[in-house]
Amino acid sequence: MGDPTGWDEPAPGVLRRRLPGWDETVGAVVGDDGVLLVDAGPSRSAAAALADGLRRRLGAPVTRLVLTHAHFDHALGAGAFPRAERYAAAGLAASLARGARAALAADAARHGADLAAAEADARAVPARWREVRRGLTVSLGGARSVVLASLGAAHSPGDLAVLVPGTPPVVFCGDLVEESGEPQAGDDASPERWPAALDRLLAIGGPAARYVPGHGAVVDAAFVHAQRAALAQRFGIGAPRP
Ligand SMILES: [Zn+2]
Repeated sequence: MGDPTGWDEPAPGVLRRRLPGWDETVGAVVGDDGVLLVDAGPSRSAAAALADGLRRRLGAPVTRLVLTHAHFDHALGAGAFPRAERYAAAGLAASLARGARAALAADAARHGADLAAAEADARAVPARWREVRRGLTVSLGGARSVVLASLGAAHSPGDLAVLVPGTPPVVFCGDLVEESGEPQAGDDASPERWPAALDRLLAIGGPAARYVPGHGAVVDAAFVHAQRAALAQRFGIGAPRP
């Protein structure tokens, strides 16, 4: 890709990068007020390295953070941004207060992370978030804004997509879409609601958008349509009655 910091740019001022290890994607959107980071990566050290790379490349700090969902590989780096404006789907603060930090650390350890380090990162996840119930437009300064769209429970208890209007529009999908493998449906997924969440995602982005999956290469609307159909079949939704 030619960029030593590992970022590529699916649209002007809109960046994304796949991380080593769990291959989760993080995104960045540049505005006059700084950089909006989409997902925080799996640890504070990974997150700090991301912020360093963005500052070198863009000359601007991370001033805002949005989480597409609260799985460890996307969220455990959040403690690296205590002063950023932070956005997440509704319910995150309550779930953190109910003990989600321990579950995040345990999940990270199950996937090969060091438990003590993951527990420290989990304790550092900020308690306060601006929670998105439906949609929220966030200005990043100048002409740049993004739309945060809460899509409810599907891949996780709270999935949030980020639309960056422009030419082309870019949609950060979180793990509602995966390109590098089958979408992962864990114990906390709501499979019956997943296809409808993808319908909303497609309505938000439209046919010309570039869709950035939580894992894998950037895809188009046709890929998302096909994944929606595959998920509906996999979960037995909309199948003809016997
Ligand atoms: Zn996930």
